[in-house]
Amino acid sequence: MRQCPGALHLLLRCMRGSSRRSCHRLPRWLREPLGYLRLIVRSLCFNSLTNSDVVMDSVLEPVFWMVDILTRWFGMVFVFLVIALTSSVLIIAYFCLLPLALNTYSTGWLLWHICYGHWNLVMIVFHYYKATKTSPGYPPKMKNDVPFVSVCKKCIIPKPARTHHCGICNTCILKMDHHCPWLNNCVGHFNHRYFFSFCLFMTLGCIYCSVSGRNLFIDAYNAIERFKHMDVEKQGVPVTGVGLLIGILPPTDMTGKSYYQTPPPPYTFKDKMFHKSVIYMWVLTSTVAVALGGLTMWHAILISRGETSIERHINSKEAKRMAKRGKVYKNPFNYGKLNNWKVFFGVEKRSHWLTRVLLPSGHAPYGDGLTWDIYPLKKDMMPV
Ligand SMILES: [Zn+2]
Ligand SMILES: [Zn+2]
Repeated sequence: MRQCPGALHLLLRCMRGSSRRSCHRLPRWLREPLGYLRLIVRSLCFNSLTNSDVVMDSVLEPVFWMVDILTRWFGMVFVFLVIALTSSVLIIAYFCLLPLALNTYSTGWLLWHICYGHWNLVMIVFHYYKATKTSPGYPPKMKNDVPFVSVCKKCIIPKPARTHHCGICNTCILKMDHHCPWLNNCVGHFNHRYFFSFCLFMTLGCIYCSVSGRNLFIDAYNAIERFKHMDVEKQGVPVTGVGLLIGILPPTDMTGKSYYQTPPPPYTFKDKMFHKSVIYMWVLTSTVAVALGGLTMWHAILISRGETSIERHINSKEAKRMAKRGKVYKNPFNYGKLNNWKVFFGVEKRSHWLTRVLLPSGHAPYGDGLTWDIYPLKKDMMPV
């Protein structure tokens, strides 16, 4: 090759020239993805740092790209779903269950349900609103003195510690946890607490509905089953095919009237709707309680460790890498279990557990999200 550098140059030039010419002939919508594909292949072939992780990332890049676009487009649909489903449960609670409770429950139970139910509802609505409307926090785009750990390849700005780029929002987010489609917003430094509190109170609300509506659900389910059998008997339709044929001609009594015209129906339309609403509410709240409960538990574990969802992956990778060298990795943002919770909720004194955790509070989080204190483990950051 060294003997004929001129010839090789010419060949490469020809290839580049021909590929450019063929590229210009392609329609515009095809040119961009093809160029992107070529860039991926080149970065894989001409990169001395390529390893299995880089290859996997590159292969899955189009999948991530599609997911990003879908999440961006369906963001409002997911928010609408959350509002519509929560409202449907509220309508059932106010129009079906409250009148029943007013007639049957003792004053003590009634007071408990009204107080707890409304407190839980206020906490859900407040935290959901704040989580969707509060900006997660962005690093400054102008020149500044904030210490940074790397540079974002997409925004071309310095990234402070714990900052990550969100492909859906297309910007860098301070202490980014994840992009939440149910909020249509990123979860970052300034709305992480609202997001977690929303998950927590939504799970508690669903458990409350599921537990207190359990007997009503069993009654409604049995009633619907009974009603189905009555419907079949009424029409004189046994389960067999012959019975179906018989059922075409309604059987008559002595006076010549059809059977199902004379006896009054045991269940009115209102009863039927009531039972179906109770079943719908119970199934929905129980499902959400299990699914969201699992997610909330996972986030609680992460908060106890002083990690975000993204840092969990980074830290476990780093821990494995260090373990190979016989070292132990320590998360620099882990201030000890209780301290992590105090920092997360902004608890600075004992009364804050009530006013800032169990009641709606719009206080700003601890720190600015740009610089982070690195404390040794177990040191009490916020003495209570
Ligand atoms: Zn970025
Ligand atoms: Zn985002």
